[in-house]
Amino acid sequence: MLVTGGNRGIGLAIAKAFAAQGDQVAVTYRSGVDGLPDDLLPVQCDVTDADAVDRAFTEVEEKHGNVAVLVSNAGITDDGLLMRMSEDSFTRVVDANLTAAYRVAKRASRGMLRAKGGRMIFVSSVVGLLGSAGQVNYAASKAGLVGLARSVARELGSRGITANVVAPGFVDTDMTRALPDARRAEIVAQVPLGRYAAVEEVASAVTWLGSAEAGYVTGAVIPVDGGLGMGH
Ligand code: NDP
Repeated sequence: MLVTGGNRGIGLAIAKAFAAQGDQVAVTYRSGVDGLPDDLLPVQCDVTDADAVDRAFTEVEEKHGNVAVLVSNAGITDDGLLMRMSEDSFTRVVDANLTAAYRVAKRASRGMLRAKGGRMIFVSSVVGLLGSAGQVNYAASKAGLVGLARSVARELGSRGITANVVAPGFVDTDMTRALPDARRAEIVAQVPLGRYAAVEEVASAVTWLGSAEAGYVTGAVIPVDGGLGMGH
């Protein structure tokens, strides 16, 4: 199995959870892989570069065989109010979060079609469902993942391939640690469970979607958000 952006944060927790159940796990990284556990195969790949994505899959296929489970997790934020958001900021975030998911899903589908089965899991966000002031680019990219996954689910379902979305709420990682303390407190006040998620809590939903038990689940959006997005 392959996790994009698996060198830190939620992606690393997902990779560790699959490895803990005995799977062969490859992680793509862009910046570095300091302290990566030995049982994870690191593959350098910027997901905004289609050739790099192709090379990364080829390397993983050579070392691990077909990629049966794909987790598209790599993502960025570049927050700002609509009036001040540059077109470059908008397209950069959509490219890294949404177009990249299309790139990896397309490349993964090749092997999955040959194998007559596979699992694609896209890491979206509650923000894609609720919207978020100051995150027009990010929310649009995360909402787009739902349409992408559901279309893949319809297109490839008859070939034994499932496509699902996990929509985390606020998770304690570098991404949210970058927020000002006042904003962090404001967020926690809105979450019914009254806290951030641990990365492992997102990972367990992802491993379930990748498991045999979830074989009849496709096109689903699974919230892991402490109740923040309920009803959406
Ligand atoms: P981090 O900022 O901790 O990690 C982001 C990961 O994405 C890193 O591995 C990073 O690689 C990788 N990445 C970013 N851009 C690229 C790129 N162009 N090519 C390859 N890899 C890239 O984020 P989180 O772990 O918090 O987030 C993981 C996913 O979960 C994201 O999609 C995020 O939107 C989503 N999410 C996070 C929430 C949160 O509260 N933290 C809530 C809801 C969703 P590198 O180390 O090389 O930069």
